[in-house]
Amino acid sequence: MGAKADQRLIPTGVCWCGCGADVSIGAFFARGHDKVAEAALLAADYDASVARLLDRHGYGPGHAVVDAAVASGAWERCAARGCSYVGAPTSIRAHRQKVGH
Ligand SMILES: [Zn+2]
Ligand SMILES: [Zn+2]
Repeated sequence: MGAKADQRLIPTGVCWCGCGADVSIGAFFARGHDKVAEAALLAADYDASVARLLDRHGYGPGHAVVDAAVASGAWERCAARGCSYVGAPTSIRAHRQKVGH
């Protein structure tokens, strides 16, 4: 698994949700339209179910998608002893500040 960066995507100046809006240089989406596109993809191809999305990509209870995110290098585990928090480096920093460890 891990389709990470095997294809370089280039912004086209038009929103990728398909609404046709012009977007600023370097952006793929008009504000908030990435969430619209994400929800629409789930609805269109995965019966609006994240479980189906995970299953289609080979993830589930027996193959944790968060482990794959860590293995890809995109996510990290919180280094504090006994903490199970996992996330992007910026999320880890925010988490550690919030819980104070
Ligand atoms: Zn759009
Ligand atoms: Zn932690």
